[in-house]
Amino acid sequence: MAAHAGVPSRAQPRAAIHLHGSLFAPRCIAAAAHPATFQDTPDGEAAQPHEGRRIPPPRCASCSALIRPGVVWFGEALPEAALTAAVEAAACDLLLTVGTSAVVYPAAEIPRIAARSGATVIQVNPQPTPLDQVSAINLRGNAAQVLPALVADAWEQTDER
Ligand SMILES: [Zn+2]
Repeated sequence: MAAHAGVPSRAQPRAAIHLHGSLFAPRCIAAAAHPATFQDTPDGEAAQPHEGRRIPPPRCASCSALIRPGVVWFGEALPEAALTAAVEAAACDLLLTVGTSAVVYPAAEIPRIAARSGATVIQVNPQPTPLDQVSAINLRGNAAQVLPALVADAWEQTDER
């Protein structure tokens, strides 16, 4: 979309910022410093059910500690670099906030930072949230319905130029 003639020059494509980590970046619980590589298990061990339907978590190849999903759990701090990148990205012209209760901080602060720096905030959510007053436009509905309609309208507007 960035190459399309109707897109403003400030709309540079960026890689997604995983503010709450990623399921696809597992890590060792013992040490954040070394990357999680999975320990080899005897044939079939990991695939065998253990205590009913439970399967034991994989172990770290470096230190044998358990490997956990690379996501932020309740009570844990957000990754500092990701939070800094998200705050910097909030200096934008337009911010879409989609499908969030907007009550869990610091993530809930990102749209407010954008609004304070002059961005237009558009919220997509089925219910009202504390961001209703911050958002220039509140689109009530779920993301699966509202976002495709929004994209189709944007393309239609671009084609009319
Ligand atoms: Zn380890």
